[in-house]
Amino acid sequence: MHPSSFEYFAPTKMEEALDLLSKYKGDAKIMAGGQSLIPLLKLRIASFPYVIDISGLNGMRGISEEGEYLEIGALATISDIEENEMVRERYTILHEAAVQIADPLIRNRGTIGGNLSHGDPSNDMPSVAIALKAKMEVIGKEGVRLIEGDSFITDSFTNSMNEGEILRRVLVPAARGSTGGCYIKQKKSAGDFSVAAVAVQLSLNENESIRSAGIGLTSVAPKPLRAIRAERFLEGKKISDSVVKEAAKIVVSESDPSTDFYGTSEFKKKVLERITEEAINVSFERALVG
Ligand SMILES: Cc1cc2nc3c(=O)[nH]c(=O)nc-3n(C[C@H](O)[C@H](O)[C@H](O)COP(=O)(O)OP(=O)(O)OC[C@H]3O[C@@H](n4cnc5c(N)ncnc54)[C@H](O)[C@@H]3O)c2cc1C
Repeated sequence: MHPSSFEYFAPTKMEEALDLLSKYKGDAKIMAGGQSLIPLLKLRIASFPYVIDISGLNGMRGISEEGEYLEIGALATISDIEENEMVRERYTILHEAAVQIADPLIRNRGTIGGNLSHGDPSNDMPSVAIALKAKMEVIGKEGVRLIEGDSFITDSFTNSMNEGEILRRVLVPAARGSTGGCYIKQKKSAGDFSVAAVAVQLSLNENESIRSAGIGLTSVAPKPLRAIRAERFLEGKKISDSVVKEAAKIVVSESDPSTDFYGTSEFKKKVLERITEEAINVSFERALVG
């Protein structure tokens, strides 16, 4: 099927993009990699009179550590993240999520900004952003503001950006000291969305107790979830079998999976419990050497 007709713009400067968004307020849609948007347009699930393709905006594709943060431009593709050596070595959780997204063709076009902004509870990057306690830097005509990773997605396919705003960068607290993370995605087949997935990031104190825990969940609620009660349970504790099992049970109690093509709600909870135990153990092992 062909999409409804629309006027297409390809600005190269942020100011130009923001002007277009303001001029066509309510009727314009941003496109980055197009890997989620184009299928929606082609199936006519959505239509917009104006499409603003931001993929040519300058300076929004970098990945670098600057002071307190790993800064990822919103136009960095999933492949850019997958192939970045520093990310692979020091932000393993991001690398692990990236390599499991769709297939290389989609990863070459799809961007981290689009993956996050789309608000699909089955997209992998939002729960990773939650676990990493990342901040979203958004820009609009009124200026720049930061949104916490766990409040960026407010509901299925809904984010907390105002109309006219663009996600410009993702700011991930720099990995320092004994820190380790892990993304475990249970899927039916390679390249598929998950049955359930969990992102865990742990930082340790000198005595190996948990200084801070970040836990994000994919595909087990109408939106990506932060398992905040499980995080609080873990913080200050030393890892043991019983602590890990109890934390995984708390994670399950915070989830709300629906029964669908990927399995029943009960099945997804069982999967979530198992992968959470594994993710906490792996993250702890990585933090010990991190
Ligand atoms: C067959 C298939 C399988 C897939 N499998 C997976 C998977 O396993 N895991 C997974 O996580 N994803 C998966 N995806 C989704 C894929 O990762 C998309 O690339 C991603 O969700 C969207 O990124 P994009 O740059 O293409 O965004 P686009 O499609 O261009 O945009 C998506 C949405 O985000 C908005 N947007 C984009 N960039 C910005 C920005 N900078 N600021 C504000 N709003 C913005 C757009 O307006 C639109 O609403 C799959 C997609 C397909 C087609």
